[in-house]
Amino acid sequence: MSKNAVSADPKVYGWCPGALRPMMSGDGLVVRIRAPLGRLSPSQAREVAKQSQSCGNGLIDLSARGNLQLRGIREDRYETLIAALGELGLVDADPDAEARRNILLTPFWAEDDDTHAVATDLNRSLTLVSDLTLPGKFGFAVDCGPAPLLCGSAADIRIEQGKEGLILRADGAETGLSITRNGAAEEAIALARWFLDQGGAPEGRGRMQTLIARRGPPASHVATRAISAEQPSLGPCATGQLIALEFGQIPSDSFAALAGYGALRLTPWRMLLIETTKDLAPMPGLILEATDPRLQVVACTGAPGCLQAHAATRDLARDLSPHVPKGAQLHVSGCSKGCAQPTPADLVLTASGADTFDLIHHGKASDQPLRETLSAAALRANPAILTEGS
Ligand code: SF4
Repeated sequence: MSKNAVSADPKVYGWCPGALRPMMSGDGLVVRIRAPLGRLSPSQAREVAKQSQSCGNGLIDLSARGNLQLRGIREDRYETLIAALGELGLVDADPDAEARRNILLTPFWAEDDDTHAVATDLNRSLTLVSDLTLPGKFGFAVDCGPAPLLCGSAADIRIEQGKEGLILRADGAETGLSITRNGAAEEAIALARWFLDQGGAPEGRGRMQTLIARRGPPASHVATRAISAEQPSLGPCATGQLIALEFGQIPSDSFAALAGYGALRLTPWRMLLIETTKDLAPMPGLILEATDPRLQVVACTGAPGCLQAHAATRDLARDLSPHVPKGAQLHVSGCSKGCAQPTPADLVLTASGADTFDLIHHGKASDQPLRETLSAAALRANPAILTEGS
């Protein structure tokens, strides 16, 4: 149930910022980089860190779609930044191509495997199909490992492992179309056109899941999907090691230092995959231990970085993290939009004023609160308030 808004509803943009279409936030422009194949070489990563410092506030976010966001970019430095990103091969030819090339891929790909080949083809094809105008948030997931890993991440069209080979699946459908690796990109674009032809995006907005709920997938989509795997945990993996970022954000100094170990792969799980087997030194913003209580909290940018935030979020989330019951999750949100986690959490604090929060149990940031106008000081002084009444 949605709670009655105490103040103006948060603004819904319906599009995502890109490098060529930056968004103004409370701390300056947000410039999003869609790195091809979700990977930055060490030299690209070092240069991105340098630009974050010289053109912005030195903070880099990792988005839920596995993109980097440079924060606090000053308007008078924007052109310089775009020129530098262009030299690194991290900017598209035009904003429309950038918007279409919304591809998330599993970070566990290897050179020339199905994920690598399909994502490379799809990247090229989406850049070229200039007559395809998709909703701003419409995206593709390329997830061709033995078991799909990206089912919990937003995407409208999925290319993943079925029970008998690759399938193309419309988000929200249980079955998909059997495809070959060479034909995957073409079929994915055909499915995007089907979505538009079926009226999936009236007035330019819409998601595949809504369309599928209304009319089901195309009749040819009968292949069964493979059982999905759990989200991977921190530590070594075949291509390197996974580390987490506190609140999905990393200072540019740490980002540059990580590049000293190897190339960086971006994930949708607030984690980076570092292509190295060496032990990593502790650094600000990094979480290296799977038992770190900060892994149990999520918090959006909050004030002052977000113009819509009623209060600061992350310091409170960090302070409360040791008090979150084992296995539970706390979401601290600067407003009812709940950007950090659109799905329900065990405990939610939604800012309602400059220093006050509403407490919600087992819900989303916009849900009816159990308690209202709790001050941050009261929560810090008595964190047991969080779980009272559960
Ligand atoms: S949820 Fe957080 S980041 Fe999203 S609009 Fe509200 S305050 Fe801003």
